[in-house]
Amino acid sequence: MPSAQPATPPTTPPGLEPSLPLPSPCLSYWHKTTRGFPHLNANKVEPPPETAEYTIIGSGISGALTAFSLIESGVPGNKILILEAREAVSGASGRNAGHVRPDAFRGYAAYAAVHGPEQAKKIIVEERKVLHAVDEFVRRHNVPCDFDLTTTFDVCLTPEFAAYEAQSYEAYKAAGGDVSHVQFYEGEEAKKRTRVPEVVAAYEWPAGSSHPAKLAQWLLTSVIDKGAKLWTHCPAVAVTKSEHQGYRWDVRTPRGTVATQTVVHSTNAYAAALLPHLNGYITPNRAQAHSLIPTSALSAEKAFTSTMSLRYSLHHFYSVIQRKGDGTIVLGVSRSNPELSAETLAVRESFDDGAFNQEIVDDALKRFGIMFPEYAAENERHGEGLDHAWTGIIAMTPDSVPYVGAIEELPGQYICAGFNGHGMARIFTCAPGLAKLMLGGSWEDTGLPECFQYGKERLVKAARKGQKGSVW
Ligand SMILES: Cc1cc2nc3c(=O)[nH]c(=O)nc-3n(C[C@H](O)[C@H](O)[C@H](O)COP(=O)(O)OP(=O)(O)OC[C@H]3O[C@@H](n4cnc5c(N)ncnc54)[C@H](O)[C@@H]3O)c2cc1C
Repeated sequence: MPSAQPATPPTTPPGLEPSLPLPSPCLSYWHKTTRGFPHLNANKVEPPPETAEYTIIGSGISGALTAFSLIESGVPGNKILILEAREAVSGASGRNAGHVRPDAFRGYAAYAAVHGPEQAKKIIVEERKVLHAVDEFVRRHNVPCDFDLTTTFDVCLTPEFAAYEAQSYEAYKAAGGDVSHVQFYEGEEAKKRTRVPEVVAAYEWPAGSSHPAKLAQWLLTSVIDKGAKLWTHCPAVAVTKSEHQGYRWDVRTPRGTVATQTVVHSTNAYAAALLPHLNGYITPNRAQAHSLIPTSALSAEKAFTSTMSLRYSLHHFYSVIQRKGDGTIVLGVSRSNPELSAETLAVRESFDDGAFNQEIVDDALKRFGIMFPEYAAENERHGEGLDHAWTGIIAMTPDSVPYVGAIEELPGQYICAGFNGHGMARIFTCAPGLAKLMLGGSWEDTGLPECFQYGKERLVKAARKGQKGSVW
């Protein structure tokens, strides 16, 4: 049975105020399997250093990879301090559903409506680049993060959604988007390949999965080995003009103040707590995931070798990865679902990652059995079935793409946040791109879509259009 407590009835008011990470998050499957990480509680009680050249706030994949990229580009490790409010990697990077899954075409129309066709194409191409970047990185550094480069299926479970997918595919292709890596199946072929009897149509393309906490922990270990310092359980509570000569900013924490030249906000859903002008422009959304120990129907030679996104509609879906080795299935769920009660849907906008929701667990298990009847047909032995359920906080932006770059109105401060639940398919080019910008590079040097660049005009545009919350 899951070890976290079920969520209490909704207490979250609409229009949630920004927040620091809450002090008692539940553990995810990824956390439960990495309790031996030696830097989990690094410098938990010590006061932080009085000065640091670079202060990175947040120890998720964004913060850790920004530090790694700075060091790779020649910044001495001992000039970097990483501050983390709770345990190392206690945010979304340690709580996600394990997918490194580029969008292949589906988001094109929605992105095009907000950013125009050229940027929409670039967003999709970028996610494909990230998959290759992660694969290349993990191989080059031999990172033990269980990265599995495979394929993924978009499984259309209704004729309506199959029609939507077909339209998206055609629109992306007509706009010049490359779909040469995407395979299409229907009828018996789709059933055989996905093992889902109710499938209407399916698309397959390259994707991967990883143990995201191990990946972030490897990055942290690597930068610490090169001299960077990690302070956990040490929230930055304010960033103010420095009172110390020669420094631009004071990063205040409950255990002391760090005078620093450069601040990086790798704080994702929590960014607005330190950057109040982002209030409403980066908002929290609680997502839930589950680990399942498979019955023999999905074990050993019957284990899934591809990952899946199984969709009843654009906003009602389930994601599945099955880990090699321990065979654990990680079952993600969409944040919208017409079958959930209003009470459950009302607590989506929340910073509370200390609990899980039992109604979402029940729905996920029921749907998993419907989608994979071979699993449901078998009686679970003790030890099989639901292993754990957990939540994490996703950061949404009104235009569905991250904020990357200098915060020009606050010279010396940078941001890499707002990944809209796609961080694993975005951060591996965004964080290295941010490091380039910090070291004097131009936006072109980052190679990132222009629409990812942080700028006040994006906020103004979102406000003008009344955009609040992502298109997803
Ligand atoms: C349930 C769930 C499923 C998901 N599934 C997927 C998936 O399958 N594929 C995918 O691509 N993405 C997925 N995501 C999204 C993905 O996990 C995120 O986009 C990504 O991890 C963001 O990384 P990050 O480093 O920017 O943020 P985080 O990992 O959230 O790191 C931010 C860190 O900053 C710390 N922090 C914040 N404020 C402060 C402060 N003031 N002082 C000190 N520290 C602070 C936080 O504690 C946290 O550790 C999922 C997310 C969730 C929650």
